[in-house]
Amino acid sequence: MDQSLKSPALSALDNAFHTQVEASRNAPPPALAARLDGLTRLRAMLSENETRLEQAISADFGHRCAVETTIAETLFLQAEIRHTLKALPRWMAPRRIATALQFWPARNRLMPQPLGVVGIIAPWNYPLQLTLAPAIGALAAGNRVMIKPSELTPHFSALLKELIAANFDPAQLTVTGIEDGVAEAFAGLPFDHLVFTGSTRVGRIVAEAAGRNLTPVTLELGGKSPTIVDVSANIDEAAERIAYAKLLNAGQTCIAPDYVFVPEQHADAFASKLHRHMLRMFGTNPANADYTSIISERHYARLEGLLRDAIARGASTLSTTSPEDPAWKKLRKFPPTIVTGASADMAIMQEEIFGPLLPIMPYRQSDDVIRHINAHDRPLALYWFGSDAAARDAVLARTVSGGVTINDCLLHFAQMNQPMGGVGASGIGHYHGEWGFNSFSKLKPVFYRSPFNRMKDLYPPYGASIARIEKLLRFLS
Ligand code: NAD
Repeated sequence: MDQSLKSPALSALDNAFHTQVEASRNAPPPALAARLDGLTRLRAMLSENETRLEQAISADFGHRCAVETTIAETLFLQAEIRHTLKALPRWMAPRRIATALQFWPARNRLMPQPLGVVGIIAPWNYPLQLTLAPAIGALAAGNRVMIKPSELTPHFSALLKELIAANFDPAQLTVTGIEDGVAEAFAGLPFDHLVFTGSTRVGRIVAEAAGRNLTPVTLELGGKSPTIVDVSANIDEAAERIAYAKLLNAGQTCIAPDYVFVPEQHADAFASKLHRHMLRMFGTNPANADYTSIISERHYARLEGLLRDAIARGASTLSTTSPEDPAWKKLRKFPPTIVTGASADMAIMQEEIFGPLLPIMPYRQSDDVIRHINAHDRPLALYWFGSDAAARDAVLARTVSGGVTINDCLLHFAQMNQPMGGVGASGIGHYHGEWGFNSFSKLKPVFYRSPFNRMKDLYPPYGASIARIEKLLRFLS
């Protein structure tokens, strides 16, 4: 498109991209010291502005529990930076790779190199963590990084843009595309790598846009994460852990337990224990500062619709207060609600819930549970509670998911040495720690030939000696 016909937002996007491309192609890759310096500045920026960031996120949500922002966003990022600073010299070093005997005495090395310019598209639910955690990996790998936060977090996005601009050269790290209507153009830029975190629906659109440029993608998507309470589980303990994980950020967590399978004979007891734990954690006062609001009226209405549909199709509900209570609605707080008697025809069992509604699916045989999971999209997370190792291992072996926590929820995500990423409809690729560093690097194989190797014996004209060499190669292969 003619530059003069573009909106100021699109021109700014293009300029930001070209500045970074130019720098990535013309400057040598940043040395270890420069990368450590960038990450250390990011760490300082986070600590110095913790309260402002927390307040901006809360303004976007209507109310976001401050402890949740600290634990799930700020401290998470601080831990990721600390881990990266410590390990980066090792990750950056060329890796020794074995050399087959016939090439001796040569050397193989795997050389990590920055890809160039990495784009990051983030959702609204953990806006700080999901913009910066991929950025940490991408910067550590020596890339230039452009971040596009969600349009649903305008206070946070404006603040992040201001802070990054004050602390980083835009050729290294920049926040852009926070204006309406720029998302598509952002995804269409020919990045060297694009990280998208968001819904599976938009993930498909982004993958298509990236595909046109042959841009490799990391897609961190959503979906329905099943939770299985085995007959061998401690019901009360499971209910308490599931209640916490479901209600963190009012259920607006990609890896929240979406629905729970409970043995038929324990379903009622489990529901009442869950209800008791939910009440104990969050009480009945909508103004409780520990409980987070739903991000927008539209999202609130979607949750009301899911509940209405489930009730109309025969489900029963157990809420910590009346779901129609106007005092809750006024604060956009959605009362924690257990849905019993859920069935496959209900919308609540078909789409990702992403809110504090928890359907319980009673089951008879654990085989039925495995069949149900395998008949649906590969989930981002799966949780299993119990003490029967054979039952646990059968679920682990026969289901495929992005990650699993046994006897709790969410915690596999917090393991810095483990990869984060979905599978199938829940995502492509991985990040966190060294997995992110590798995803955002070209791991370039380099072969250093030895002057003493007799490769020359292979060259034509092929005389009598080639038969001997062939024999040797056959022996070694
Ligand atoms: P979303 O897909 O609506 O939006 C995500 C981002 O995509 C936003 O920045 C948005 O502006 C951008 N976007 C929208 N349309 C676009 C287009 N056509 N081209 C390019 N970009 C576009 O998701 P959301 O509502 O912000 O977040 C909730 C979803 O994200 C849930 O499904 C949740 O499970 C998922 N999620 C996944 C993870 C994970 O790590 N796997 C983490 C958090 C959230």
